[in-house]
Amino acid sequence: MADAIRGKGVISGIAIGKIMLAGQNLDGYLVNYQPESKEVESKKAQDALTAVAETLRENIDRLQKQNMVEQAAIMEAHRMMVQDPMMAQKIEEKLEENASAPQAVLKAAEEQAQMFEMMEDEYFAARAVDLRDVGKRVAKYILGVKEPELGDEKVILCGREIEPSVIAGMPTDKIAGVILGSGSTTAHAVIIAKARAIPTIVGLNKEDRIDKIADGDHVIMDGEEGKIIVNPSEEELAGYNEKIKKQQELAAHYAQLKDLPAVTTDGVKVDLMANIGTHMDVDNALKYGAKGVGLFRSEFVFMGRQDIPNEEDQFKAYKEAVEKCQGNLCVIRTMDIGGDKPLPYLNIPEEENPFLGYRAVRISLQRKDLFLPQLKAILRAGVYGKVGIMVPMIINVAEFKKVKEFIEEAKLELAHEGKAYAEDVQVGIMVETPAAAVMTPVLAKYVDFFSIGTNDLVQYTLACDRGNANIAELYNHFNPAVLQLIQRTITSARENGIWAGMCGEMASDPNAAVILMAMGISELSMSAPSIPRVKEKIRNISSTKAKEILADVMKMEDGDEIKRAPLRRLVKTNICKKINPCLKAKLAYAQTTPLGRDFCMQILVS
Ligand code: PEP
Ligand code: MG
Repeated sequence: MADAIRGKGVISGIAIGKIMLAGQNLDGYLVNYQPESKEVESKKAQDALTAVAETLRENIDRLQKQNMVEQAAIMEAHRMMVQDPMMAQKIEEKLEENASAPQAVLKAAEEQAQMFEMMEDEYFAARAVDLRDVGKRVAKYILGVKEPELGDEKVILCGREIEPSVIAGMPTDKIAGVILGSGSTTAHAVIIAKARAIPTIVGLNKEDRIDKIADGDHVIMDGEEGKIIVNPSEEELAGYNEKIKKQQELAAHYAQLKDLPAVTTDGVKVDLMANIGTHMDVDNALKYGAKGVGLFRSEFVFMGRQDIPNEEDQFKAYKEAVEKCQGNLCVIRTMDIGGDKPLPYLNIPEEENPFLGYRAVRISLQRKDLFLPQLKAILRAGVYGKVGIMVPMIINVAEFKKVKEFIEEAKLELAHEGKAYAEDVQVGIMVETPAAAVMTPVLAKYVDFFSIGTNDLVQYTLACDRGNANIAELYNHFNPAVLQLIQRTITSARENGIWAGMCGEMASDPNAAVILMAMGISELSMSAPSIPRVKEKIRNISSTKAKEILADVMKMEDGDEIKRAPLRRLVKTNICKKINPCLKAKLAYAQTTPLGRDFCMQILVS
């Protein structure tokens, strides 16, 4: 039997397939790179330049045959940069300064990129982006980091770091699983994977476990248990195929819930919506019974490309999502660039604390050239359905007022240009900073809705990095400080006649959903595959019971205690109902997981 490699399972599901190494952020690879003598490093750099130039030439031929003239021209420019004697000379200089081969390449490209940037001519200044891209490509070759190249078979993407845009840019039906060295439940690469129900395991950079997995390896990955089996035996494969069958039975049960409302036994209704990263995710969301989109992370429209998408490009993406929502609300969040979603072509200077820095609405308000086309594109998409505009990272009323002024300006421009747009678009904010949550009684007078972003709200309230696996225990959405801010936000909304929802990951926790419902939340938006679980929990409880649980929870002083308490109570509620129609499928599946075994034990002892 093969030895299992352990990580942290964050998106359940089993994938069996071939590994494809991927990854755009090279930091993790560079740290682990072992340089050899200067001569060997120099040879590696030269070989990499030759190999990359050759690959580019092949790509150019293919693109020309497909009549993709523009892309072929860009690739040709890249090839010339790779073969430029200046590049080779700069690399040698860096090697002389004791840089390793990949570092020398990256530094050489960066130095030249900065020279381009200083040029007055806009065209040349823009070439800086290409140079950095080329440098990265050559460095990747040396580090053995492959660009994902897709065949017919589904692959399991694996890397120390995988940028969200890599997953977002690949067709859903080509990725069977994701294995990430870094990351946590709320890392953006994970969030995208979640929207697409891709089994995902993170945290394998610990003790360099990720290095035990090689490109092309055949693996079983269990996203529930965080277990990866490389080159499994026949016996292991048979065991997992059985498990997959049980999973399918559970999925079939959940499918029956698709068109049923999320309503308590005494008639309190909550709208369950989906979080999406691209318009392509809407189809998947509808499959799970989403009643529209509560969060379209529009920054993904900006990522994975070389330049800013213009109004027309954005309009097409938003329109498609809005149309697919078939008259249900589609909330489009204005771009949330920064934090762990950098946008290389914006050339934002490196920051010490990117999550506290130039991010989201702070960029939008300073970059009218970016913000206005985005607002115009959203307003135009509003003609094709029901649209909401949501602003991320708000900390005060003044920011929101400025956003409203921009929206008015966007409407005026559209009217002037004779383009159709929606007048009646709701404009709301993410409540994801403690400042916003505290100020919700005031903000509620200006906005049409609140959507609580717990991924950031938890990290900012508890001073606890959302991506740091070492302090993951502290990152708890049941912490009483967080719960108080959430309760305050929902109450402020209700008192001012607007709606409050949640689009942070907390919304996908069925136990949290019960508490939130009791607090008076009217919408929960989550990665689509979580919808059936949350729906089932809501349909199996009364609002009276939920309020009792909430009252108990709000008296508790410790987040860990709260985390455990509702689970026990709610499991009991389910047992008492006895008529739970999916119990059989659930038990069969539950017995195959550690968490589920616990669950079964509780049923047996009650
Ligand atoms: C959040 O912070 O909860 C949220 C939904 O936004 P993001 O995860 O994109 O930062
Ligand atoms: Mg956020």
